[in-house]
Amino acid sequence: MAEPDFYLSDAQRELQRALREFVSKEITPIAATCDAEEHYPLELFPRLGALGYLGLGFPEDVGGSGGSRLDYAILCEELAYGSGGIALGIYVHMALACAALEAFGSQHLKQAWLAPALRGERIGAWAFAEAGAGSDAGSIATRAVADGDSYVINGSKLFITNGPIADFLIVVASTAPERRLKGLSLFLVECDRPGFRVAGSLSKLGVRASEMAELVFEDCRVPAANLIGRENGGFLDSLSTLTLGRIASAAFAIGVARAAYEATLAHAGRRIQFGQPIGSFQAVRFGIVDMALAIEASRLLCHRAAQAADRGLPHGREASMAKLHATEACTRIVERALHFHGAAGYMSDSPIGRYYRDCKVFELGEGSSELQRNMIARELGL
Ligand SMILES: Cc1cc2nc3c(=O)[nH]c(=O)nc-3n(C[C@H](O)[C@H](O)[C@H](O)COP(=O)(O)OP(=O)(O)OC[C@H]3O[C@@H](n4cnc5c(N)ncnc54)[C@H](O)[C@@H]3O)c2cc1C
Repeated sequence: MAEPDFYLSDAQRELQRALREFVSKEITPIAATCDAEEHYPLELFPRLGALGYLGLGFPEDVGGSGGSRLDYAILCEELAYGSGGIALGIYVHMALACAALEAFGSQHLKQAWLAPALRGERIGAWAFAEAGAGSDAGSIATRAVADGDSYVINGSKLFITNGPIADFLIVVASTAPERRLKGLSLFLVECDRPGFRVAGSLSKLGVRASEMAELVFEDCRVPAANLIGRENGGFLDSLSTLTLGRIASAAFAIGVARAAYEATLAHAGRRIQFGQPIGSFQAVRFGIVDMALAIEASRLLCHRAAQAADRGLPHGREASMAKLHATEACTRIVERALHFHGAAGYMSDSPIGRYYRDCKVFELGEGSSELQRNMIARELGL
């Protein structure tokens, strides 16, 4: 029988193998503690940077390691297999903050921030959501007003991953409120700027190894050169360009689902009831088969979207389909994994409980399932 991912190149298989080894040594052993203590292992950033993983998919002339979107999808799956929370912190840094900087930043900003960020020496965050603006980006109330050679930013951001640990933020702010979505611009804000503060850390149900905060901007002045992309167009441009986030979300969901599936497969062979392994009961066998099938279908959709992006083909629909399918499948798979583990899976020290708390966020972030369905419907001509 062929390997299900027989289409991967030798280099991609080697990348996958090396990542599995890294994750099993450096991430899996600390995943439960980081989750319990709501603590991000900062030392992973320079370590992943030194190994070239943070630069995956970024051009070498800006300090990246080269490589493809498919390489990046492989990275995301493997990191999330070890810890959804740790993977989330890396993802926000790479797929949102660094990707926006790479796509739209000036040469000066790239040199000053992107190269050190890809080495893991600086940590980025993506400051988009607000109390009144989640799915509805047009309601963003944070204002950036041009004043001479600067912009003055006022407002607050909520639910910002990496907020407490970041060195720089990519902030989505309104430069023309009357134009709503078409009046949004992106700014790089250094976290030591006067007028910026982290208002407080937020505690979460899942992905607890990632740190999250509310951020406040009070007359925070940034140079006009910190504008990323077009004024009044930066955010819309980023929506069409930063499909990497949806591909990454799909890959994360696949990683968490695979961890839950593998644990369930092993448990089903080990756990004896009525004198036989529970995996010999048809109801359990069929449930586990459905998990394996959903993971492989999700991975094919995810890798298709990544390869379309690598070939420069339109891939918005593919990225949305991959994200929608993989994230909803992950929630179903993890629920079944807990079910088949019985009470043992329900205990606080069971990794299944962590997967159960982690999985739901993938359906909410990067555009919820409803927003993905809306995007796909538009692509289908509805
Ligand atoms: C763990 C975690 C990490 C996060 N990290 C970041 C981060 O780093 N940076 C950042 O900017 N944000 C972050 N967020 C916030 C994230 O961007 C928002 O959760 C997301 O945009 C959804 O917004 P909301 O939570 O306000 O939900 P809402 O927009 O209030 O949606 C609530 C419900 O209504 C549904 N809904 C909304 N509009 C429609 C519609 N038009 N049609 C049908 N249904 C609809 C949604 O699908 C959802 O089910 C994070 C959130 C979480 C949970």
